[in-house]
Amino acid sequence: MKACLLHAPARIESNPLEYGETADPSPGPGQILVRVNVCGVCRTDLHVIEGELPPKRSPVIPGHQVVGVVERTGEGARRFALGARVGIAWLHKTDGTCEYCRRGQENLCDAPLFTGYSVDGGYAERIVAPEKFVYSIPPGFPDEQAAPLLCAGIIGYRCLRMVEIGEGARLGFYGFGAAAHVAIQVARHWGAKVFASTRDVRHQKLALELGATWAGGRLEEPPDKLDAAIVFAPAGEIVPAALRALRKGGRLILGGIHMSDIPSFSYDLLYQERMIRSVANNTRQDGEEFLALAAEIPIRTRVQVYPLRETNRALNALKNDAIPGAGVVKVER
Ligand SMILES: [Zn+2]
Ligand SMILES: [Zn+2]
Repeated sequence: MKACLLHAPARIESNPLEYGETADPSPGPGQILVRVNVCGVCRTDLHVIEGELPPKRSPVIPGHQVVGVVERTGEGARRFALGARVGIAWLHKTDGTCEYCRRGQENLCDAPLFTGYSVDGGYAERIVAPEKFVYSIPPGFPDEQAAPLLCAGIIGYRCLRMVEIGEGARLGFYGFGAAAHVAIQVARHWGAKVFASTRDVRHQKLALELGATWAGGRLEEPPDKLDAAIVFAPAGEIVPAALRALRKGGRLILGGIHMSDIPSFSYDLLYQERMIRSVANNTRQDGEEFLALAAEIPIRTRVQVYPLRETNRALNALKNDAIPGAGVVKVER
């Protein structure tokens, strides 16, 4: 099959993903083989490719927002029919036995495997995954539009669940990429007002189109004090700026898997019961709940589509903030 392989971490500007032939994967017990139609691009791919996350496998096929169809099933795998449309996300598998898994916090599993990082991912014509960690894709979403729901969407949803959002709540978004452009639709559905701080004017414009009350520069303070804010951008210097924008008792949620160092700041910014919390991965329950909600709202993603052989180009565009909404790589047959 054709796939994009990463042999060693390198800056995305050097186009390190090598597009070429590699062996088809074969489904083991409990696994399914999925023919990939599309795979969404995500900032975590950049952290994997550029080595900000320590390498787990080499070579590796990145990509963890896969939409495709079940082509073959491994021994004992009966959950999906052949030809069913499914989604594969970041969480490939957990051990199911550690204290976090037993507590219902499988997102914090001590021995997790991640798609496109510890195991091969979706920038390929085929992929295998344990059927228990695969999602059904609700009807009503074309493949391209469904792909960004699988990481950007699910993680954004988990971030939103960490804050109390009622009618009229004031919610700040720092960074307005793929995750934020989905999360704003959920936040608006729940009646929140969204204030978007982001450096790129195209992203500010998209935020306003999607119903933001206000959009401004990356470290700019919104006109009202925020009940909560979510930082989607991987830049630590945003943290003090976002704390400054919170009301007393407000919550700050950090949505990224990696962030540059957070500069030191005065305790005054945190005092008065403000809170900072990170979000790590997601549980399968987050995924199931979010996909059902996405169909109900319904969420409409804005996507820019690239052919599989141009995955490097898609990821360069992501790094340069040149994708309004979400980027998606498509397998052409
Ligand atoms: Zn575990
Ligand atoms: Zn992701």
